[in-house]
Parts: sequence; C-alpha cells; structure tokens
Amino acid sequence: MKAAVSMEMIQKQLEQVEQRIRNACARSGRKREEVRIIAVTKYVDTETIGEILKTGITHIGENRVQDALPKYERYKEQATWHFIGHLQTNKVKDIVGRFDVIHSLDRLSLAKEIEKRAAALGIVVPCFVQINIAGEETKFGLNPTDVLAFVKETSNMKHIRIAGLMTMAPIVEHPEEARPVFRELRAWQKRLQDLRLPNVTAEELSMGMSGDFEVAVEEGATFVRLGSVLVKPEGT
Ligand SMILES: *Cc1c(COP(=O)(O)O)cnc(C)c1O
Repeated sequence: MKAAVSMEMIQKQLEQVEQRIRNACARSGRKREEVRIIAVTKYVDTETIGEILKTGITHIGENRVQDALPKYERYKEQATWHFIGHLQTNKVKDIVGRFDVIHSLDRLSLAKEIEKRAAALGIVVPCFVQINIAGEETKFGLNPTDVLAFVKETSNMKHIRIAGLMTMAPIVEHPEEARPVFRELRAWQKRLQDLRLPNVTAEELSMGMSGDFEVAVEEGATFVRLGSVLVKPEGT
C-alpha cells in the first residue's frame, strides 16, 4: 500500500523546491518559466495526486505501467502525463493513446511498437530519447555510441516525434559530480538538432531528480522529475 501525503505537506515542500529552482535559474541566467516540474508520484497513492494537483502542479510522472494506469484513469483530464520508466514493448499498447509524453525511448524495438500503435490511433507521440550518458550497466538508455544511428532510423517514423532527450545521472555523493552528465545531454541536443532530421525537434531536456535538480537546471533542464523532495511520505 502506498502512502498518502497531504496538500499542506506538498505545498510546504514545493515552496522550498521553487526557491531552489529560482536560485538555480538566477545563477545560470535562465527564466523560471523555462523549467517545468514533473511530480513523480510512484511513492504515493492515487488520492495524493489530487493533492498535488491542488498545488498548481500540472505535470505528473509515473514509471510503472501497472501502478500508473489507475492513477491516470482517475485524473487523466487534469494533468499532463509523463511516462518516465523503462517501457516493455508489450506494455506500449497501455501507454500510447493515454500518456502524453514517453521519456524512455531507448531501443528500436520499442520505437517500432510505439510507431505501430500510434499509427493505428492516428496520433503522433512526443518521445524523449533516453541516453545512458555515464554508461552505467544498471541503467536503461541508449549507449551514446548508438544514439546517432537510432535517431536517424527513428526520424523516419511519422507517428513519433523526438521532442527531447532524457537521462538519469549516476547516484553521486555531491550533486556537482552529475554536472558533466547533464552537460553532455545538452551537447547531444545540439548535435541532433544540427542534423535537421524530420520529426526530430529535441527541444526538451528531461534531467534532474531530487538529489541533483539544481545542477540540471543550471545545465539547461526544461523538465525536472521530482519524487522524494516533493512528495516524500512520512517516515520514509
Ligand atoms: C523515481 C524517479 C524519479 C524521481 O526520483 P527522486 O529521486 O525521488 O526525485 C525521476 N525519474 C525517474 C525515471 C524515476 O524513476
């Protein structure tokens, strides 16, 4: 059973997060509006999403299909839904046509399945290419050496728009150590945009989590994915 968190609690955390984002924007000469918060709701129950939405947050992120679907069904019209976790090919049918954005496009078999399902529905799905910048064995995401070929191939799929890039930085002791990872994702954005491929806009950078979001903002994040710093259930 997942925990419930009250709106008051979330509001309090959000105010602190807001201040930290503002400071990071100020340090790096960015506008606050360039950065959007995705509340990652995997630690909390369905009702808590209602509490989150009351604070004015409109972007919700879930990483597991099974947990995500009931939450989506309950609040679908009230939020923009981001699928941020590893997506199995056989679950694509549950996500395409429901979630607004997929952050974890990381292999050709997945792209083909998304393309197939989106074509059947007559929609274009904005996807972020997930890159395993640090090359960690334990993480999903494309190996950097495979990114170029993957994006070129995927750019031919008319029902997928590569709207951004996503990465997860390694867990480090000091957030500063994650900076090169975020900087490299931004470098990839430029490389891919310079190719001027069809269906590849890559305007979004989904990077930064509770432990490292300020550094990610300084390095150009347009979406930060925040779980524990925002909606940490009591006693965890
Ligand atoms: C859980 C999760 C997050 C949020 O993690 P926190 O450290 O709790 O902020 C962000 N992105 C992905 C892909 C996740 O699975």
